[in-house]
Amino acid sequence: MEAWVDLGGIEARTLVVSRFKLDGGAMFGQVPKPLWSRYSKADDLNRIPLVVRSLLLRTPEALVLVEAGMGENFGASEAERLALEPVAGGLDDALRAEDIDPRAVTHLVLTHLHFDHAAGVARRSVGGTPVPALPHARVYVQRSHWERAHAPGIKEKRSFRPEDLAVMEEMGVELIDGEGEILPRISVRLSSGHTDALQIVIVRGKRETLYYPSDLIPTLAHVRAAYTMGFDQWPNRLIEEKVALLADVAADDGLLVFVHDPNTVAARIQEGAHGYSVRCKETL
Ligand SMILES: [Zn+2]
Repeated sequence: MEAWVDLGGIEARTLVVSRFKLDGGAMFGQVPKPLWSRYSKADDLNRIPLVVRSLLLRTPEALVLVEAGMGENFGASEAERLALEPVAGGLDDALRAEDIDPRAVTHLVLTHLHFDHAAGVARRSVGGTPVPALPHARVYVQRSHWERAHAPGIKEKRSFRPEDLAVMEEMGVELIDGEGEILPRISVRLSSGHTDALQIVIVRGKRETLYYPSDLIPTLAHVRAAYTMGFDQWPNRLIEEKVALLADVAADDGLLVFVHDPNTVAARIQEGAHGYSVRCKETL
């Protein structure tokens, strides 16, 4: 069960805002099915269950949401293909169900703009025109990633939705150039294996350090260095970035949060003879 955790000077919690399914083979790249099946059972269409687990951060001055999830603006056939839940209500309902007022969110940090992480910015209004789900939040995204979302390559083109980018413009977009602090204790580190300029969010509390690597390590199974996704743009770069990040998580004994894992919220990492592995599972 998710609950607020005091990291020391900043509070954090997670919240599942979407549930969906994707092809198991695509989620595990070159890893053979008999191996990835140990982590996730596929349905008769070879799809595995996934979530979008957002991160909420609370300071005296700000309420930060990291990732907006899938939202509710999908056609019936697309929603069925993705086994999307909820099909109506989206981010707004997910927050309200936990007594969080969407109007209270001040910052929306998007690690990147693929639709599973970003389409939740939009709510379907009564007239059918999408409106911002977070009316008082500004969007924080890397400038080079924002530019890529407007001019993607062929492999990545279907991951971006122009209508969501338009809703972000309505909200107000803060384009960030490179790594550093967004707010006290909240910083971003860049990774470019999954897509150009993905923001890993790092929260340094007085007691605990939390890492939110997004699609650099989307599920517990992907802690294994060679477990990459078919969606990754540059898998070899991703493996190098992953190993470097896991070294830091292990050194800090930090909390590593998984954006897409339906069963495991977070874990702590240890180094062993065969690389980095999960030391214990955690919740928040
Ligand atoms: Zn994703």
